[in-house]
Amino acid sequence: MAYRRRRQREKTTFFVFSRLFADNSGAHTHYGDWLMKVLVTGGAGYIGCVTVERLISAGHDVVVFDNLSQGHRAAVHPQAAFIEGDLSDADAIESVFSAHSIDAVMHFASRTLVGESMQKPFLYLGENVVCGCNLLECMLQHDVKRFVLSSTANLFDDPERIPITEQEQIRPGSPYGESKQMLERMLFWLEQTHDLRYAALRYFNAAGASLERGEDHTPECHLIPLVLEVALGVREHIAIFGDDYPTRDGTCVRDYIHISDLADAHILALGALDQGSRTYNLGNGEGFSVLEVIETARAITGHPIPSRMGPRRAGDPAELIADSGQIRRELGWQPQFPQLQQIIESAWRWRCDHPNGYGD
Ligand code: UDP
Repeated sequence: MAYRRRRQREKTTFFVFSRLFADNSGAHTHYGDWLMKVLVTGGAGYIGCVTVERLISAGHDVVVFDNLSQGHRAAVHPQAAFIEGDLSDADAIESVFSAHSIDAVMHFASRTLVGESMQKPFLYLGENVVCGCNLLECMLQHDVKRFVLSSTANLFDDPERIPITEQEQIRPGSPYGESKQMLERMLFWLEQTHDLRYAALRYFNAAGASLERGEDHTPECHLIPLVLEVALGVREHIAIFGDDYPTRDGTCVRDYIHISDLADAHILALGALDQGSRTYNLGNGEGFSVLEVIETARAITGHPIPSRMGPRRAGDPAELIADSGQIRRELGWQPQFPQLQQIIESAWRWRCDHPNGYGD
């Protein structure tokens, strides 16, 4: 394997990088004991590009594969190799594995919108699943057996217990959630049949920004960036999707997790893959309602952020809060930015520094 060949050569570099990284983040010291060449699908997208930034800080080589339908070329770290391509094109994926000695894959490329998936289910039940399947088939043909999947809290519609542990019953809330459940099941079977080692990371609500990379979707439909666009004067008001949920103020409650903490969890999971496959719920264990998010953004931006009450958005569960005790115990994951205020402040700083996002 390529990582074994590089291991000795790069050992010194790894320790230098890992120390730097640990000092910068203030927490983690363990990322497995070797460097890898990691293929990151969707590495030009929001969560992917920050994870690429962290992988490169930790000393890994990175190849980004992205069709730029949602992502931005400017978001890709300059030290990463970039290949524009689509996972529906099996030949394009094949050429990536032929050209690079890939040790592990992180799979972010996906359609990710709960609301859209209720309108256009085949984009999710079809495209998300088929693209994931193409990728997995090709990587296994090339004997690449380490895989990290972006999964989702949308697996847990109407959970029996909150906060939600990994043992909670899976009940996807939308075709989007269902597509991730199908990919998780695929991983389970590929471990049985092909010895694949995987980590399925179920994100609760990713938000915030690193110093250089933040959230820029077209069209934007996530709560925090939309609220900040109101504060910037790009929009007149924020629409609140329903106030008749069984929550403390009637609006949906979500567990927001800083994008850098999420990226760190990927790197920890990657380092632990050789000890076994794993599935983790990733959040901060505290829920905030839509109204509370807007109130926090008002305090940070000093803008009144007008809101208007609207109907529910189909596919939205009432309350999603993670119990992330398992990844904390097993991998020592420790969020550096657990407060909602820190998360929104980082997003606000990035938007003020990049009023046009990535500008493309
Ligand atoms: N939301 C809202 N207005 C918006 C966008 C989102 O009220 O314009 C709500 C949405 O119903 C959900 C929460 O904000 O309860 C977070 O939504 P987002 O789309 O950011 O993330 P999701 O929970 O869908 O992953």
